[in-house]
Amino acid sequence: MSTDWDVVIIGGGAAGIAAARQLAASGLSTLLLEASQRIGGRAHTVHVAGHALDLGCGWLHSADRNPWVGIAEASGFTVDRRGPAWGQQYRDLGFSSKDQDASDEAYAAWHGRLMSDLPHSDCAADALEPGGMWNGHLQAMSGYISGAGLEQLSIADYLAYDRASTRRNWRVPAGYGTLIAASLPPSVALGLATPVEAINLEAAGVSIATRAGRINARTAILTVSTTVFVDGAIGLPPELDDWRHAAASLPLGRNEKLFLEIVGNSPFEPEIHVLGNPRNPRTGSYYIRPFGRPVIEAFFGGEGAEVLAEDGPAAGFAYAIEELAALFGADVRRNLRPLAVSNWSRMDHIGGGYSYALPGQAAVRDTLARPFDGRLFFAGEATHRHDFSTAHGAYQSGVRAADEVMAAVRPSAP
Ligand SMILES: Cc1cc2nc3c(=O)[nH]c(=O)nc-3n(C[C@H](O)[C@H](O)[C@H](O)COP(=O)(O)OP(=O)(O)OC[C@H]3O[C@@H](n4cnc5c(N)ncnc54)[C@H](O)[C@@H]3O)c2cc1C
Repeated sequence: MSTDWDVVIIGGGAAGIAAARQLAASGLSTLLLEASQRIGGRAHTVHVAGHALDLGCGWLHSADRNPWVGIAEASGFTVDRRGPAWGQQYRDLGFSSKDQDASDEAYAAWHGRLMSDLPHSDCAADALEPGGMWNGHLQAMSGYISGAGLEQLSIADYLAYDRASTRRNWRVPAGYGTLIAASLPPSVALGLATPVEAINLEAAGVSIATRAGRINARTAILTVSTTVFVDGAIGLPPELDDWRHAAASLPLGRNEKLFLEIVGNSPFEPEIHVLGNPRNPRTGSYYIRPFGRPVIEAFFGGEGAEVLAEDGPAAGFAYAIEELAALFGADVRRNLRPLAVSNWSRMDHIGGGYSYALPGQAAVRDTLARPFDGRLFFAGEATHRHDFSTAHGAYQSGVRAADEVMAAVRPSAP
């Protein structure tokens, strides 16, 4: 087999772009293949009515150790270091300060049981107080954080993220998606609209089947989401069954966003936040006038995101407007116009929000990250032991996989 490339990176999201950056100066010939018409994957800024809207990642989590901050600043992007308004209920609307204290206590008690009284099941729902009056609220939080109900979550996995988070959250006004898509080095060859259909093992590396033909490579880095990994869209050799099983234990949660434009005189002040209904596990989390813009960003997770994706955009906009009208008064209906909505769970080549581990399965992130036979390497947010579900975790995984490729292709002298 003649090899066309030293490295083929499959998938141009944050992980694939990070791998490309790391390989750019290595001297190894590198091709990045991306199934869709654009790079960025779950990092996607759209421009609607003059507003930059992040349909996917928006917050630079653990910002004080997030590599995208340095990349942003080195490339001339502004980083807004103000902390987020989440966690605050504007003027206690629909959520009295007494109830906020009670729900905080319920969260702290649940979290305390995770730490000290770890259920054998490793299932986060087993640490709920039976019949607890804030259980719906905790389920909504789980939806935002993990994209799934507590019944589906591994405690060990949840705690790994929680312990590693520095709780600093910053933003890029131009959009996190804009930053990530702008960060692919021009020296790396790019094939857009080129879905990989199969990967086969060959004596001298791998062959990669695409609609445009076969590409031979010494090594490949697979960065696709866990949904894509298991849905059969890419034919994989049986030797990779352990990786496929690992991906199946790390499903993508449901996470969707919806944006409303604010028109006319309204009571919406800049940089404020409300939960629609703190007792409803499906409720939206509304970030009002981010950066002072006349926009509301609604975030749905778990059950709420599922309903949004299934009932369609019109029902989703109506639901968000009703939740806001219940808090700010019926008149605000006149101030709100639909702008944009995501549908990650049904998007080809993505298939969901971000990964969580099923109970008992936290360790399989390491299985998914393991290289195979010095020629296949794995990256993507789900492969990160504690920064999974983020764009910086995806970045770090891409750098790690690129380093593994370089070590495999150029073994160090004895
Ligand atoms: C609603 C939402 C909000 C979020 N908010 C935040 C946030 O505030 N902060 C944060 O850090 N993270 C957030 N995230 C998570 C973050 O966006 C992801 O963790 C990260 O972008 C994943 O990057 P990745 O490279 O691992 O995967 P992806 O972005 O999924 O990249 C994989 C790429 O592979 C491509 N691909 C798939 N199949 C093929 C194929 N057959 N051939 C070639 N290419 C293929 C895909 O098109 C895609 O471009 C959010 C995600 C969502 C959905």
